[in-house]
Amino acid sequence: MPALFPKGETLVLASHNQGKIKEFRHALSSAIGSLLSAADLDLPEPEETGTTFEENARLKATLAAESCGKIVLADDSGLVVTALGDRPGIYSARWAGPTKDFSLAVDKINQELSDLEQQTGKPVSRDAYFIVCLCLAFPDGKTYTVEARTTGILHPTPAGTEGMGYDPWFQPDGYECRFAEMSLEQKQAISHRGKAIQKLLEQYFEG
Ligand code: IMP
Repeated sequence: MPALFPKGETLVLASHNQGKIKEFRHALSSAIGSLLSAADLDLPEPEETGTTFEENARLKATLAAESCGKIVLADDSGLVVTALGDRPGIYSARWAGPTKDFSLAVDKINQELSDLEQQTGKPVSRDAYFIVCLCLAFPDGKTYTVEARTTGILHPTPAGTEGMGYDPWFQPDGYECRFAEMSLEQKQAISHRGKAIQKLLEQYFEG
């Protein structure tokens, strides 16, 4: 029987990413008392030394839970362009460089896809998916993880102004617009993070 997050309790989100904090605060508002971010508690940003999304999410959640003694949620997420194997994957934030310029990251992806096209002499697919692993860590060391994905295509040029990161380039399957052209509610209803939060609420939060 897993430990459950008590309704109305304070939850710490081990993230400094304002885009993620906004999505979590919105999606969890009915289940938690308040959401504190890593910045609110002055928690250090650990180096993401894991080799999988799950390892990185667990690492961030357990370190933060040990240091603040509260229940912590951490997320590790990224974009995978299928033709490029598992890349950028766990390096999705790092491909945008220290200035977090995602047009640089997409330029790099565009270049690699066009190199591949040259090498193979065939058109290369722009199929991609977002993946997220969430880890809920309790101060006694127990951890629980959930994972979810959203498939779609990565356009070579951006559109839209909402969201974060790769949102202006990503069009989810079944939709005519990009994540960055959707409201927070619309994105959350179909996104990897929205689906993972739903799983987490169903499995590890008091009803
Ligand atoms: P990390 O989870 O902090 O390692 O960062 C993952 C990176 O993947 C973020 O910096 C985002 O740029 C990207 N990413 C993850 N989820 C999304 C999303 O929903 N939209 C756009 N970019 C995302």
